[in-house]
Amino acid sequence: MSDQYTFQNPVTRFPEISPPKQDQPEPGLDRDLTPQSDRGEESYRGTGRLEGRKALITGADSGIGAAVAIAFAREGADVALSYLPEEEADADEIVGLIEGCGRKAVKLPGDIKDGEFCRDLVTRAVEGLGGLDILVNNAGKQIAVERLEDLDDEQLDHTFKTNIYSFFRITREALKHLPAGSSIINTTSIQAYNPSPTLLDYASTKAAINNFTKGLAQQLAPRGIRVNAVAPGPFWTPLQVSDGQPKEALPEFGKSTPLGRAGQPTELAPAYVFLASPESSYVLGETLNVNGGNPTP
Ligand code: NAD
Ligand code: MG
Repeated sequence: MSDQYTFQNPVTRFPEISPPKQDQPEPGLDRDLTPQSDRGEESYRGTGRLEGRKALITGADSGIGAAVAIAFAREGADVALSYLPEEEADADEIVGLIEGCGRKAVKLPGDIKDGEFCRDLVTRAVEGLGGLDILVNNAGKQIAVERLEDLDDEQLDHTFKTNIYSFFRITREALKHLPAGSSIINTTSIQAYNPSPTLLDYASTKAAINNFTKGLAQQLAPRGIRVNAVAPGPFWTPLQVSDGQPKEALPEFGKSTPLGRAGQPTELAPAYVFLASPESSYVLGETLNVNGGNPTP
């Protein structure tokens, strides 16, 4: 079996996919995704880059967060997983993989739109892990809406609470615990600077995340805490089939990138590992784009 270090052509690294039209209620499940995505279950090989570290990852049950959780565990970290109660089945699978490599997994279901839960989440992660030195703010909500007139206040409120309020709230709470040397990594998106006409609320929150990352990085630098972001392009995850994209767009998903295909979640994991690890000690306030070659500012 090849791993992420095997010399290979990035165009053909994964089997080509043309996802059939499909629809899942929000939040979607990896379990029901067609075709299944690659989160590195079989292929990600750790080399001890996060030995003994303690990470809290939001949205760790599926997609990008799940791939990061698997990678962190294989690199030697214990992981606390935040996800919604409806996602228990997906979370259990990732917990099994984390425990399978001898690391600790702490399950923390709950709704991060709720400010009180955000506080509770961090407290329980710290208790469960015996400390905290990596925070990955990764959970997100993306619902495509064709016309601004049809974007109601409830969606607006939920998108902003999930995608940006929670980043402020969880990070603020985590700062009570993060020692010097810690790393905070925020999942943003190419949507931050290249917004789709159907994702106005979502794309606005991603632009806010980029800005939050650059400001906070400066604020926390003197304390020895580094803040960075990862900006994915199109990745094949349950977000896309739970109204994240117009359904008719799914078969062509990701094909307009220079690489000609959607990304698989495991291809993002090394970016998070790099930013979490002390090897990136002079990298702060950076947005690492992992998007198949689309130009970025
Ligand atoms: P995903 O559906 O697998 O992950 C999103 C996760 O967010 C869910 O698993 C869920 O646990 C969590 N979440 C959503 N609302 C929540 C709430 N109220 N409370 C607690 N948890 C909640 O999809 P993904 O694509 O892996 O998304 C992960 C991140 O990547 C998101 O921030 C998304 O915006 C970002 N992103 C994804 C893509 C892509 O193409 N898939 C591109 C750019 C950015
Ligand atoms: Mg999920």
